[in-house]
Amino acid sequence: MVGNERDGATRREALMLGAGALAATAFHIPAFAVTGDMAGLPWANNAMRWAQVAFTEEDPPRYDPNFWFDFFREAHVQAVCLSAGGDVAFYPTRVPLHKRARDLGDRDMLGEMIKGCRNQNISVITRVDPHAMSEEAFATHPEWAACTEDGKPRRHWAAADMWVTCQNGGFYFDFMPAVLKEITDKYQPEGFFGNRWAGSGMCYCQTCHTKFRAATGLELPTSNDPQDPRRKAYIQWNTDMRWQQFTLWNDTVKMSKKDCFFSPNGGLNNPEKVIHPLVAVDRQGRSGTTPVWMMGKFAKITRAYMQNLPVVGIFNVGIEDDNRWKDSVQNGAELRAWMQGGIAQGFRPWVAKFNARIFDPRWVAPVTAMYDWHWRNDRYLRNTSNLARVAIVNSTQSGTFTAGGTAFTAGDGVRAAQRVTDSQNGYYQALVEARIPFEMADDRQLEPAHIGRYRVLILPDIAALSDKQCQQIRDFVNAGGRIVATGETSLYDELGKRRMNFGLSDLFGCDYVKTDNGVKNSYLTPHHPHLLTKGLEDAPRIIAATQQITVKSHDATSQPLTLVPSYPDLPMERVFPLAEQTDTPMVFCRQVGKGRVVYFPMDIDRTFWEVLAADHQIVLANAVEWAMEEPQPMRVKGPGVLDVSYWRQQNSLTVHLVNMNNPMMMKGPYREVLPAGPYTVSLALPPGAKVRAVKLLESGATPQTSRDGERLVVEVPRIHLHEVVAVDLV
Ligand SMILES: [Zn+2]
Repeated sequence: MVGNERDGATRREALMLGAGALAATAFHIPAFAVTGDMAGLPWANNAMRWAQVAFTEEDPPRYDPNFWFDFFREAHVQAVCLSAGGDVAFYPTRVPLHKRARDLGDRDMLGEMIKGCRNQNISVITRVDPHAMSEEAFATHPEWAACTEDGKPRRHWAAADMWVTCQNGGFYFDFMPAVLKEITDKYQPEGFFGNRWAGSGMCYCQTCHTKFRAATGLELPTSNDPQDPRRKAYIQWNTDMRWQQFTLWNDTVKMSKKDCFFSPNGGLNNPEKVIHPLVAVDRQGRSGTTPVWMMGKFAKITRAYMQNLPVVGIFNVGIEDDNRWKDSVQNGAELRAWMQGGIAQGFRPWVAKFNARIFDPRWVAPVTAMYDWHWRNDRYLRNTSNLARVAIVNSTQSGTFTAGGTAFTAGDGVRAAQRVTDSQNGYYQALVEARIPFEMADDRQLEPAHIGRYRVLILPDIAALSDKQCQQIRDFVNAGGRIVATGETSLYDELGKRRMNFGLSDLFGCDYVKTDNGVKNSYLTPHHPHLLTKGLEDAPRIIAATQQITVKSHDATSQPLTLVPSYPDLPMERVFPLAEQTDTPMVFCRQVGKGRVVYFPMDIDRTFWEVLAADHQIVLANAVEWAMEEPQPMRVKGPGVLDVSYWRQQNSLTVHLVNMNNPMMMKGPYREVLPAGPYTVSLALPPGAKVRAVKLLESGATPQTSRDGERLVVEVPRIHLHEVVAVDLV
């Protein structure tokens, strides 16, 4: 999006050349993306099961390394992440001011653990954390500290004897490279994982003032409003600084070991700059109201921007909550539900344990059982492509520029940050309930090479779209693609500047007039027959959404949903509509060239997330089916809520069915697993695919199968938590 794109492209090319022809094809991602087992790419692509031990300063004399080596063996762990240095060192470092762990003494805890892992042929990633420094480091280099807006250095918020470091100063750009070099030279790890690698929020130290002024000619912003020119410049400058930091750190470790790499937590979240061979994403567990499918959503988002390189999902054995009980143990049903949801959508599991000592072992059995299952079915989990034909477009820039990265007071033209996520989650939930297999696409990759495999793209209130992105979507539709868009999609440019009209008004079939928020007690009249309102034949009226966009239609075509305008909700004597029905369309279902377009001039997806009205779920799912105009590659019949996915591997196809029928589906933790079934799965087979055998990977049973024309039908009698239908191909 910003920064040295040319530099990024060159690096990616270099990696492709270095990695051989197979890897190069993986990057082009033609019809079907390659994920997983990429011969020719570095070792990490073959590590399927991961574990992390985050050491504490009191661990060295007190922990039992053999516990860990036994656990790694029994769980068939292939790669391990171990705490090395940064804020605190777990080895006898010689880098000045690199503080050794309090109880390290003469020991080399990192070295001991690495040796044991090497004995078992386990790959090692070393973890660094640069976000804090010691009192001694601060005394010598006060300029390394991050500062608050008034210029005062920041004490660490939790560790009273430590200081928060500035991400743009000497600690990150001089001290950390020395640490990274020492660790690489001494231990030759396969790679590095950076925790809290991007700093701890905005810093106002002298270094930041000076560097920002030199780069932009501006003073550091004090407003969070992304439309403030200084904030806008800061967002871009910060992205550049992180790229510089990443490049320096990555080059530093490569200088000491050619195929070593630095992988920041979550990756760079920039498809233009994907150069690390894998990425681990820290999504440790559920807190607050979080649906259990959320880990799968993180997997889909990350695979999209990582261009289908291996993605590893970090889950924590503890109770993950804003109160941060880092030493707790989550129950097994929740641990498995969270991680199986991620595995079903393409995450490789990475279990994280804070503290190397085990005083509450309740997590060990469920995690070992899940990993053992994963190992036994390894070849069915090395996905080469996902077969979904529908994708929700994820828009980081809408979140940044039309909503503001952090919470701030919404003003004129500035939208509350949460709206972007809520609209996306609403559509996500509707598709999960409809059991439509789908992916997430990235708004920075709208070229045919990336989106050509999809039949339908969903744009859930993707407000910020550049002219180029609008044209890419237009090209997609003209080539026969289909879109479903809601709310203010395309009303802003990529930096959040409001347009006079939708960028996609020609596709929507209407022009923008105005937006009303907080609309109460307004309804929709469904008209029949139309696929969009199928299932609502007995409903004279359904609820509308709370944000409504007034638009001017380009033509007078009648549409299947029309508005019943808002009327009083009090006093009760006034609760009757002023107009029983209008001709005002609240959806535009249009044939455009070879493609189809559905546009809802309202935030029906966000309202669905808030209210979860069943009628909205029907409409949202129907919109996709009307746009799709062909059968889904997979259909599942049976009770309740399942998250589904349909994958191809080298010699097989797999269907993941995650049973989400649980009273704790929307807010964890699960207390127990409640089996559900029976289910009937109907699969379209890829052209030329011949079935050799079908089995169920969790129950171990051979299921009943039949044919429905070209489709394979599989009966799944019962799903405990997760089932995989594995179809071996000839
Ligand atoms: Zn600073």
